[in-house]
Amino acid sequence: MIKDISNLQTKLQTLLTTQKSLYTQGRVADYIPALAEVSAEKMGVCVTTIDGKTAGAGDYQVPFSIQSISKVFGLVMAMNRIGDDLWQRVNMEPSGQPFNSIIQLEWEKGIPRNPVINAGALLVADVLTSHFSASKLAFLSFMRTLAHDEAIYIDNYVYQSELAHGNRNAALAYLMKSFDNIESEIPDVLSHYFTQCSIAMSCEQLANSLLFLANKGIDPVTNQAICTPRDAHRVNAILSTSGMYDQSGQFAFSIGLPAKSGVGGGVIAIVPNYGVICTWSPPLNSFGNSVIGTNLVASLAEELGLSIYH
Ligand code: GLN
Repeated sequence: MIKDISNLQTKLQTLLTTQKSLYTQGRVADYIPALAEVSAEKMGVCVTTIDGKTAGAGDYQVPFSIQSISKVFGLVMAMNRIGDDLWQRVNMEPSGQPFNSIIQLEWEKGIPRNPVINAGALLVADVLTSHFSASKLAFLSFMRTLAHDEAIYIDNYVYQSELAHGNRNAALAYLMKSFDNIESEIPDVLSHYFTQCSIAMSCEQLANSLLFLANKGIDPVTNQAICTPRDAHRVNAILSTSGMYDQSGQFAFSIGLPAKSGVGGGVIAIVPNYGVICTWSPPLNSFGNSVIGTNLVASLAEELGLSIYH
């Protein structure tokens, strides 16, 4: 494990330098037009530890669209709110399909494979919409509390762009509603989901906000329980099997950390009992995962011996 964080700072800088030219190997997401406007050359990495240390390099303090990384927080909120009832409505299996696939959802009668593909996250958004009187506000305030940073905001430009190009997500939600697996009105569910995806956060803010998952559900700064140790275990398990979509098997095989990506180019990886890695680089591979971000997590995990399977 990483002991000396000042050495880590130098290591992160060196890693970024080695990856710098590789941004041409991926494509910045353009199915949400606002995301296509972000520079492909942005690149940041941050490591935070449960004992309060931070090391970062590059654009690690620049906010970006967290997109599907928000699914992790939505899941925790829904587990806290409705407990095991959640698992009657969404499964915990890898999908082996792209993140926004609709095919499996009809075969499996409107029960999403897991809460971190789009169908599952829309189901979770329905739980939040129907169980909170102001679910978007509750979500934003949860993020601010976890990151200990009131400056975290919703990027309305990204939100509007998602809303205008959200037909695939609308189709997933309507299909689930046809199977009676969505309670709220679809426009409300979509509005909640696009809002949480449009939150802008930096690598440093994200890494700080996820420390509880590396610490058995306890926020190490305040010592408050954010979720139970059992639920922290469950979220990490789901991130290990499904967080990198249909690249999750390869990610576990070669890296071995619970992780989650977003189409804004962010990747978070949880190192249980140690800390969190967050990387950002917008160009994505064919699975919708950041090319450079995945490389950075891979290098750190390898060099520092972080895999949970060792
Ligand atoms: N908002 C995006 C979508 O629904 C999130 C997808 C992602 O980050 N993988 O398509």
